[in-house]
Amino acid sequence: MAKVIFFNIPAQGHINPSLPVITELVRRGEQVICVNTAETESQYAATGARFVPTPNTDKLSQLVSQSSGGDIPGNALALVQIAEVIMPFVLDLLQREKPDYVIYDSLCSWAKQAVEKLGIRAATSLSTFAMTPASLPPFTPVMILDTLRQAVPRFPRYWQTAARMRRNFGVKGVGLFGAVMSTGDFNIVYTSSLFQPGAEKLGDRFRFVGPSIAERPVAVDFPYEQLTRHPVVYISLGTINNQNTAFYRQCFEAFHDFNGQVILSVGRRTDIAALGDVPENFIVRGFVPQLDVLQRSDIFITHGGMNSVHEGLYYGVPLVVIPQQVEQAVVARQVVRHGAGIALGDQPPYGQVSARQLRDAVNHIQSERETYQAAAAHLGDSFRASGGYIRAAEELIAFGQGRLSAF
Ligand code: UDP
Repeated sequence: MAKVIFFNIPAQGHINPSLPVITELVRRGEQVICVNTAETESQYAATGARFVPTPNTDKLSQLVSQSSGGDIPGNALALVQIAEVIMPFVLDLLQREKPDYVIYDSLCSWAKQAVEKLGIRAATSLSTFAMTPASLPPFTPVMILDTLRQAVPRFPRYWQTAARMRRNFGVKGVGLFGAVMSTGDFNIVYTSSLFQPGAEKLGDRFRFVGPSIAERPVAVDFPYEQLTRHPVVYISLGTINNQNTAFYRQCFEAFHDFNGQVILSVGRRTDIAALGDVPENFIVRGFVPQLDVLQRSDIFITHGGMNSVHEGLYYGVPLVVIPQQVEQAVVARQVVRHGAGIALGDQPPYGQVSARQLRDAVNHIQSERETYQAAAAHLGDSFRASGGYIRAAEELIAFGQGRLSAF
């Protein structure tokens, strides 16, 4: 029985895939300590792990809840500044608990810096595609220029913070890229090698275990009895950049006379009353039980969050992907490349789409339903064949024991 500390950030898309893995690690006898902000504690309750809250995390919670959307370099700088604030806590916790190994989400650069300083074995948990500077996915020139335009003004503040951290804590800098992609010696990636762009270039340090999908312990109310019409179109922009009333009104315009059922998840912070009259073929909620809803859906209109895309494809649902930022645009390209859906608004400025395009995209998928469904199901099969959270737990336990599994 090894002792393991799992660092994560308070974002649903990063916590969700980790929970089944943690539960499985505990079930197999590992002693797991989960570290995240205090408001996430209840999400870990059913895992059987011990919870330790990260202190001084106002900025971290704020970053996630008000995420500046497409501005990934800005988010990267904020994460480095957060690392500086919480580093004393991280170093102290690791020295006190003396874990056999550590797992950290790829956004927790503070954990990577601390384990490297203290010489602790560590694995990265990646709920996005894996990227290394040597294996970047196929960004278009427009995407690269747009990202550089955002990154360059951040460099001076990054360098200053990194210099202070070297001086005060004796840790190495991670770079702005590393702040959002802290890969390490051993990396668990929750996708299949088929879906990961350039998987063959990443090598043995990256284990593609497929999406970590399991029954969710917290039940969410939903009026399933109202799902009497077909086809069912499910729409969600995820849990972060979802206060987009203009987009929701466009959905009303696109589908008010659609001969089917539309389910719209608008996020818990969106005021549904402020959206105006809801067409009678819509069910609008702040949050829905997405895994259950997807199993009853024919088409999923998504922002291209990794979890949402995986979950849709896992259940063989064709996608219309409307990315809101560069990382989701890469996901959208993979969906299109595999023929499992359509991408709209996938060049900067991301997410721009008209009601007409939305309706046309759904009509198009409907008209070639079998082809899209077969492509989505093929990816779904590749996900299931990759092993999911059980393989992730097996790989991590083997890694903790200093063995590399035979997969
Ligand atoms: N989710 C959900 N109900 C909703 C909206 C989202 O259960 O109404 C879950 C969804 O199943 C997924 C996660 O929230 O696991 C969203 O993660 P994703 O990576 O897709 O997007 P993010 O929220 O990080 O932008």
